[in-house]
Amino acid sequence: MADYKPHSKFSSPFFQVFTPLLVFFIHLSLFADESKLNVKQNKILKDTFSYLETIEPKRIKIDKSTYNRHSQFESFFKFPFSGKKLSRWIQTRIKKYSFGSTGDYVAMYQEGEVLLGRGFFSLNRLDRVLVLLHEARHADGKNYRHVVCPDDFPYLNTRDWKIHPAGKKGCDSVPDGGYGITASFIFELGAYGYLNQTEAAYRYNSEISRVIRD
Ligand SMILES: [Zn+2]
Repeated sequence: MADYKPHSKFSSPFFQVFTPLLVFFIHLSLFADESKLNVKQNKILKDTFSYLETIEPKRIKIDKSTYNRHSQFESFFKFPFSGKKLSRWIQTRIKKYSFGSTGDYVAMYQEGEVLLGRGFFSLNRLDRVLVLLHEARHADGKNYRHVVCPDDFPYLNTRDWKIHPAGKKGCDSVPDGGYGITASFIFELGAYGYLNQTEAAYRYNSEISRVIRD
């Protein structure tokens, strides 16, 4: 804006230089070396939501008593299983995406913003949905912060065996945290035939292994 108040101290040359720098450094402290998503990355993100929105419940492919025993989606999300509703659920929680280095993680959530690492963009569309769903749960506050996985945590990281969850903040102590809700989503994918039972069970078990009881 060109229309400064003539006597505002913020119009002094010092503040004109300093304020943008300050804003820059405050931003830096949230996520180091982040940048906006490029066109290709934006398209991958958009495709992820488009894919999710094609998933709707049709006919249940497993027996009803098994479904009733394990289905937790509706009790966690407070709406019946629906990819479109889930897409909205994510989008009300994550307001901004950026790209940058995420260390041992594929993505990181902070204050309404998700930082996506390089690895995110080479995942398949289902894994990208799982990552976004997981990160969106972090928007719901400190109840959903991770706890430290036990030192003797025996399970492998499904994406990268060099990452050892034992002793790291990569577990949940609540059933409906980031890992519990992704498990509940995967269960529905198996129940409605979007994944075969072997793949659904492997994926479900992988997520649920991170839900530990104190
Ligand atoms: Zn998390």
